[in-house]
Amino acid sequence: MKNVSMLIGGQAVAAPSTFPVINPATGEAFAQVAAGNASHVDAAVAAARKAFPAWSRTADSERKAMLHGLGAALEAHMPELMELVTLETGKPLNGLNGVGAGMEVGGSIAWTHVTADLELPVEVLQDNAEARVEVHRKPLGVVGSITPWNWPLMIAIWHVIPALRAGNTVVIKPSELTPVATARFVELANAILPPGVLNLVTGAAGSDVGPSMASHPGIDKIVFTGSTITGKKIMASAAGNLKRLTLELGGNDAGIVLPDVDPKAVAAKLFGVTFHNNGQTCACLKRLYVHESIYEELCAELAKIAQATVVGDGLQPETQLGPVQNAMQLEKVEAIAADARARGGRFLCGGKRRPGPGYFYEPTIVADLAEGSRLVDEEPFGPILPIIKYADIDEVIARANNSPNGLGGSIWSSDPARAAALGLRLECGTVWINEHGAVQPDAPFGGVKQSGIGVEFGQHGLVEYTSIQTLKIMKA
Ligand code: NAD
Repeated sequence: MKNVSMLIGGQAVAAPSTFPVINPATGEAFAQVAAGNASHVDAAVAAARKAFPAWSRTADSERKAMLHGLGAALEAHMPELMELVTLETGKPLNGLNGVGAGMEVGGSIAWTHVTADLELPVEVLQDNAEARVEVHRKPLGVVGSITPWNWPLMIAIWHVIPALRAGNTVVIKPSELTPVATARFVELANAILPPGVLNLVTGAAGSDVGPSMASHPGIDKIVFTGSTITGKKIMASAAGNLKRLTLELGGNDAGIVLPDVDPKAVAAKLFGVTFHNNGQTCACLKRLYVHESIYEELCAELAKIAQATVVGDGLQPETQLGPVQNAMQLEKVEAIAADARARGGRFLCGGKRRPGPGYFYEPTIVADLAEGSRLVDEEPFGPILPIIKYADIDEVIARANNSPNGLGGSIWSSDPARAAALGLRLECGTVWINEHGAVQPDAPFGGVKQSGIGVEFGQHGLVEYTSIQTLKIMKA
């Protein structure tokens, strides 16, 4: 059994009790983690505040070098981190179309180096005989990072690296379901960073760790990735000291397939962007709208691929899809499937749990549903996809936009220019043409409507960890 401590002010910190982390492929615990509470948050915030003056004044080149060092440390420990990610998330080491723990750790390394190289130059707005006006970007102070269970290491990196790059110090709280790889990353980082710059507090399900961070007067910003419902609670708690917020929340992304697409040619790609990580990715394609002229053919192609997909323990190299990450999520998928059945959904494949231990559910495709069913209206966050028939392009764009969410969307067509023009009519933070969910470290990513506030990645994401200070120097 692996034991995981908290890390506060550069020191490992135990707690009076621990909580188990379950391997979803077996349903059994493989780690015991310190069950922290609000007093540990207080200690971590105090350590981060103490470290802030020196870290924020550290030479830019030195901070950058330390972050590159962190990328190198992740790389040196890649096999170990991949195994931890697979054990706690269930995600396969390799995965469907290469989307697995290897991609999670590899992406974490890439994001670290690209973000380390970003700059925050001083902008000069005016420089004449009268005055010089400059815009400076300053760190905010202490950033609190709260992460979900689906891409635990990658999302920790997405939060922590830009926060540190901009000169902030950080307290991170990983999901109680997947804290292990994040704890190892924080440990590796603390061998490079000064004490107190990056602190880890772990809490069991229902603990006061997350809520006390959201309301803590010593935290200046919360960056949160998780469900919309928790995001709203955090926003309310953050009002006390007007914390800055970046909220990356749920999505129910629509993909629209135009009639000019060859179903055989596009099916494998569509299946991958929908089912990788068992659909447990915020920007997976979750509602597939297909033109009536190619509807049956594309349904049949997708079902064929689903039936040939290798589902199993993610530690086996040939596994394409692992288990659903946790028992509660599996029950949610089952309830959504039952609702789909009750509303006349035509199950083309799957529709049930796999017998035996672990939280396995067969990749499931449901035809003939429409809005008004849970599978279409809610984010299922599991291996189940509705394929919805449409006849008219204006009508289908309105249906895609008729959602409280607005994370991503996609148009699939053999005419990319026409698809791009249609894509710009979608109400979402990112639009992909003949692709879905592909993010990159230099392009901003975030949601509109109830999918979030703010963006991550690249220059646009980095400045969210800063405040503006305007400097006006009179000359005359
Ligand atoms: P969740 O909201 O249940 O939990 C996320 C984190 O918030 C966990 O660490 C949890 O302990 C913590 N938390 C729970 N209640 C809290 C409170 N009251 N105050 C402070 N912290 C609290 O989300 P989840 O189930 O772990 O993740 C799945 C959701 O995340 C899905 O909706 C998915 O779409 C979304 N997600 C979004 C993105 C994105 O970038 N938009 C990325 C990944 C996941």
